[in-house]
Amino acid sequence: MQSIIETGEINKRVPEGSTNDELNGLVMLFNTMLERIENLIGGMKESLDTVAHDLRTPMTRLRGIAESALQSDNNPEAFREALSDCLEESERILRMLNTIMDISEAKTKTLNLNMRSVDLSALIEEVVELYSYIAEEKNINIGLNCKGNLHVTADPDRMRQVLGNLLDNAVKYTPSGGRVDVEAFSQDRQIIITIKDTGIGIRKEDLSKIWERFYRTEESRTQTGLGLGLSIVKVFIELHRGHIEVSSEVGVGTTFMVYLPQIT
Ligand code: ADP
Repeated sequence: MQSIIETGEINKRVPEGSTNDELNGLVMLFNTMLERIENLIGGMKESLDTVAHDLRTPMTRLRGIAESALQSDNNPEAFREALSDCLEESERILRMLNTIMDISEAKTKTLNLNMRSVDLSALIEEVVELYSYIAEEKNINIGLNCKGNLHVTADPDRMRQVLGNLLDNAVKYTPSGGRVDVEAFSQDRQIIITIKDTGIGIRKEDLSKIWERFYRTEESRTQTGLGLGLSIVKVFIELHRGHIEVSSEVGVGTTFMVYLPQIT
């Protein structure tokens, strides 16, 4: 133990004995603690690397806009435009940072869930209501069908984010005149939520990649987005001990299915 503390080599372990006594119990606890610390540091290092890497592009853009504004002649209108571009770029950076922090906290399991009893049918209704305006503007119909007792123990804010991201995508990737249907029901002590759209669809070879951070399919580039929504959806659902599946056909539509254990 002393040598690990002195050298800081937290990848080392104290040899565990075969006896069943208190001393050996303590050694095992010490090793478990080392393993936790190692995982946490690993997660922090990984997120630091990605943050640094992902921030470089928007930061360079931000500097570029400011630099060229400074070099131009004193045209107040151009300055105003440059400032507004800078503001837009820094908001994008901030959004990216917040989401990345959420994902890495969730991955290292340090994200605190505020678990309480939640009526999912009310929560789904609330999120659908929120998106009904954008949908209406795009002439997309949203259907809602919640059946039975949909009470679960969950973090309502995180659940709202999960449903919001899925619904946002469904509306975003569905052309005008299409449909989005949200259904929720309980089956075998789990709650199943499906979000089905009649949108552009996702190609088979892309289906496994859409959960990765910053991954966006070729077809979606015309829409705005950071490519972070689905990775956060996935970690949040997994933190609730659930899982998510997707099925899709190009040009026909996409269905996301969320499975949550009904622990009340
Ligand atoms: P984005 O910010 O790009 O929407 P997401 O992480 O939410 O990022 O989604 C990743 C990618 O998965 C999207 O860029 C898009 O290509 C694809 N995708 C997600 N939802 C849908 C959907 N409902 N229909 C078609 N493609 C989708």
